[in-house]
Amino acid sequence: MSAQIIDGKEVAKSVRKSIKARIATLKEKGVTPGLATVLIGDDPASQTYVKSKVRMCEKLGLYSEAIGRPADIAQAELDEIVAQLNEAPNIHGILVQSPLPSHLDEPAVVKAIKPEKDVDGFHPYNVGLMLIGEPNVLPCTPHGIMKLLEYYDIDPAGKEAVIVGRSNIVGKPMAAILVQKAKMANATVTIAHSRSANLAEITRRADILVAAVGRPGTIDGSMIKEGAVVIDVGVNRIDDSNDPRGYRLVGDVDFDSCAARASWITPVPGGVGPLTIAMLMFNTVEAAERSISG
Ligand code: NDP
Repeated sequence: MSAQIIDGKEVAKSVRKSIKARIATLKEKGVTPGLATVLIGDDPASQTYVKSKVRMCEKLGLYSEAIGRPADIAQAELDEIVAQLNEAPNIHGILVQSPLPSHLDEPAVVKAIKPEKDVDGFHPYNVGLMLIGEPNVLPCTPHGIMKLLEYYDIDPAGKEAVIVGRSNIVGKPMAAILVQKAKMANATVTIAHSRSANLAEITRRADILVAAVGRPGTIDGSMIKEGAVVIDVGVNRIDDSNDPRGYRLVGDVDFDSCAARASWITPVPGGVGPLTIAMLMFNTVEAAERSISG
């Protein structure tokens, strides 16, 4: 089998198209959805992510406010920034770019964001709602993966889904969404992680395999079932002197050997990544809609 490509750029475009009319309706009512990004320090990858989020806001006609502070910012100052954004009427979504420098209390910052402005979907209140199947907002990356599955009509119902990685931003919410008793869910879900014994035995059970590890080559063709759907979340920089940047991006999945056995596969770049940003815009628009729905 040679896998068909899941085209994240195409799906992200369709998501953006679907929110354009909603943005126009909000504007007619005098509301421009607003997203605040908070970037602490000068990590190059984080800078790139924040820049693309701001650029996408501009492209869609959303208001964006980019706040940058040096890496040695005090916790109290960051808390004050979040408190002000919580009260700002023109801001509907607040995104504090992760990871924060180690002296800062990241979980406390996540909890300080008002749940209604938590467009990342990381606040414990929103995580709880997601878990009980009454989601308010879904974390952008797993939400984006669901859009990919929907677009290509890949229904997880009754399938074995294996998620490699148990982070709060990808692995755990992905599992929570796929296991729901709901449309486009109802999967039998397994989560694997660095302490899982016999990873290959677990991944070979998967009809749908989601790799969110942060390590190139974690999954190769021998570790997947013939015909599996392979979703590669990983974004890893590896040195490449042929690339003008000096590096190129690869996922967690060995693309060639997996594409030879899978039925569907996401490339890196151009798979999950474009959806993460699109869903951030989607969540910001929904937050703005909720802000006027009373
Ligand atoms: P984390 O580092 O928070 O989590 C990685 C997970 O992988 C952990 O649960 C870890 O296990 C597990 N793991 C590590 N090594 C192994 C191994 N050898 N075998 C099995 N499991 C292992 O990462 P994130 O979830 O934040 O991100 C994962 C990847 O996805 C990264 O490359 C990140 O850049 C990318 N990413 C991409 C996005 C996109 O839009 N495309 C968005 C978000 C992330 P343990 O818990 O035991 O440590």
